[in-house]
Amino acid sequence: MSDFSQTDIKFLAGVGPKKAEILNKEINVFSVEDLLYYFPYKYIDRSRIYFVHEVDGNMPYIQLKGRITAFETFGEGRKKRLVGHFTDGTGFIDLVWFQGEKFITDKYKVNLPYIIFGKPTLFGDRFNIAHPDIDPYISEDERPAGLMPYYNTTEKMKNHYLNSKAIQKIMAAAFSSVVKNLSETLPERVIQQARLMGLKEAMRNIHFPENAALLREAQHRLKFEELFYIQLNILKYMAERKSKLKGFVFTKVGDYLNRFYEENLPFPLTGAQKRIIKEIRQDMATGEQMNRLLQGDVGSGKTLVALMLMLIALDNGFQAAMMAPTEILATQHYQTVTESLKGLNINVELLTGSTRKAKREKIHNALLTGDLHILIGTHALIEDTVRFSNLGLVVIDEQHRFGVAQRAKLWTKNVNPPHILVMTATPIPRTLAMTVYGDLDVSVIDELPPGRKPIQTIHQYDKKRGALYESIRKQLREGRQVYIVYPLIEESEKLDLKNLEEGFEHIKEIFPEYTVCKVHGKMKPKEKDAEMQRFVANEAQIMVATTVIEVGVNVPNASVMVIESAQRFGLSQLHQLRGRVGRGADQSYCILVTPYELSADTRKRIDIMVESNDGFEIAEADLKLRGPGDLEGTQQSGIPFNLRIANLVRDGEIMQYAREVAQKILDEDPLMERPDNLLLKKQLKKLGGNRYNWGLIS
Ligand code: ADP
Ligand code: MG
Repeated sequence: MSDFSQTDIKFLAGVGPKKAEILNKEINVFSVEDLLYYFPYKYIDRSRIYFVHEVDGNMPYIQLKGRITAFETFGEGRKKRLVGHFTDGTGFIDLVWFQGEKFITDKYKVNLPYIIFGKPTLFGDRFNIAHPDIDPYISEDERPAGLMPYYNTTEKMKNHYLNSKAIQKIMAAAFSSVVKNLSETLPERVIQQARLMGLKEAMRNIHFPENAALLREAQHRLKFEELFYIQLNILKYMAERKSKLKGFVFTKVGDYLNRFYEENLPFPLTGAQKRIIKEIRQDMATGEQMNRLLQGDVGSGKTLVALMLMLIALDNGFQAAMMAPTEILATQHYQTVTESLKGLNINVELLTGSTRKAKREKIHNALLTGDLHILIGTHALIEDTVRFSNLGLVVIDEQHRFGVAQRAKLWTKNVNPPHILVMTATPIPRTLAMTVYGDLDVSVIDELPPGRKPIQTIHQYDKKRGALYESIRKQLREGRQVYIVYPLIEESEKLDLKNLEEGFEHIKEIFPEYTVCKVHGKMKPKEKDAEMQRFVANEAQIMVATTVIEVGVNVPNASVMVIESAQRFGLSQLHQLRGRVGRGADQSYCILVTPYELSADTRKRIDIMVESNDGFEIAEADLKLRGPGDLEGTQQSGIPFNLRIANLVRDGEIMQYAREVAQKILDEDPLMERPDNLLLKKQLKKLGGNRYNWGLIS
């Protein structure tokens, strides 16, 4: 028998080619099965019928039974509206339509019994319901019990009579023909172990819930399934990569590392730095290729860790590379690294977009002969012309700026892929880490170098400039330096730059006794660098900048970060910016400047910043406020963030459990060859090709 679930949606009763085309285009529904996986976004309990005299303004919606006594039209042109006077004998309420007058008066008759449903609002001294749902009255026994599903629909769909109710009807038709042949998509064993509802029952209760408890069970089962296959896919990919790719074996600890440790180490390592270096060193000696994410809050000392790991590569006869997202940051890394390696006879070069041709060619050659040991740079490193003689380790700093595809490109630099260490200061909430970076092993630096005082964060209204400048001046007098950051959002770029220029001039006037420098993304790299250098060298005490300084820049003497129009930044971005100060032993301050009028969400964001210095806490809060789709890096990740039913914020626990179940299956049967695992393989293949775009995961 043919599989009805694969039938084209256009053959379904009540659909046809026209509507099918709309469903294809608007919600990606092509087959009957696609339709079944189009889940409601909410449910409303329609079991209770109220009386008109019970209506009050706080009800989100209400259901009434009664009749329309008369239709009337009011107003002219665009203000025209149709009103149906509705009563159930306990009072009157007005039903209001702003369009479709003819359709309504043709369809609904005066004095017939109807059930109406909608949101009541008080208008003058009478309640009305705009564009209510109207159904012919049917007795309680005939009415479907329980919860009424609501489906998301687009404007186009509504114009073609495909509103939520219509979807419900089509769903009912699809369901009755397909349900008996619907085959289970999870192995029996998994269903037992995780105590899940079967697929048929789950599908029935997600679209036609009998009661709230069964609905919850159905939702749980379908969320689990969705997250389980995502995790199975990631874990399978990881396992395959590990078995396919040989990794370089770094076993030696040689002269470079030892000499650096004994002669050049600028300060004792923190406990966390030591632990991480040991952990990663072991990982690079197993014979498997390493793919690791190193998370550590801003200022936790990741650069030093990276440097020491690169020295291990050198000790084993390999080259190392370090890639940063901006020219400023790459330059700073280059300076830190060359400074730290003084006298050790290690060749380090910097390669960025603005490296001159002659220099560039010299670098290319030295890479191939092996004379160049460490290459530091920007995206320029992944250009095809850059070839190494034996690249052993690549460190990618601030990963969230690099797409997964770019990460993958590094592998082609050698016959064998180098070990890859991705470093990020953006604390990634657990649930996201399990998906976006789900194919990486994770290390966390959970300790800051000693003597750091927590940064004090202050919210200041922009009307109180006098007080703001006073506190800045106080710090400047003590010999500290100050950042003042302006937003730069692409849509309003011109205006933003104007704000920055005006701010720059204004600050120069307010602080004539100090030198002010300026950095923004529209400057030439050379100019930017020169300005940056003036600040690093303390020739300038105040830096006015856009967010180009957000990532990585390290000036320990800077103790004040002023963020203008802080309401326009996301939480993670604010935290990153704040991390530019508090890098020395002095008390540092972050001042968030906003207008007095703020939306509730924004006020919450600012409050979180004032209360918390913990990057992970902030990232979780950010995820909750904004949703995962907005977080940096998620767009290019290839992970389906428009999940059908699961929610990365709320369903972290289910995801964690699904990952464990998936891992166990792969541990026992890596290639999923056992008969009771064949279903998994089949299902993965199907999902890979169709519902989700998984191909992008590196
Ligand atoms: P991030 O993790 O944000 O990249 P950095 O590597 O830039 O942090 O380090 C921040 C600052 O802390 C730098 O000034 C660095 O020299 C300093 N630092 C790093 N490790 C230590 C340590 N073990 N003890 C004291 N200071 C350290
Ligand atoms: Mg850094």
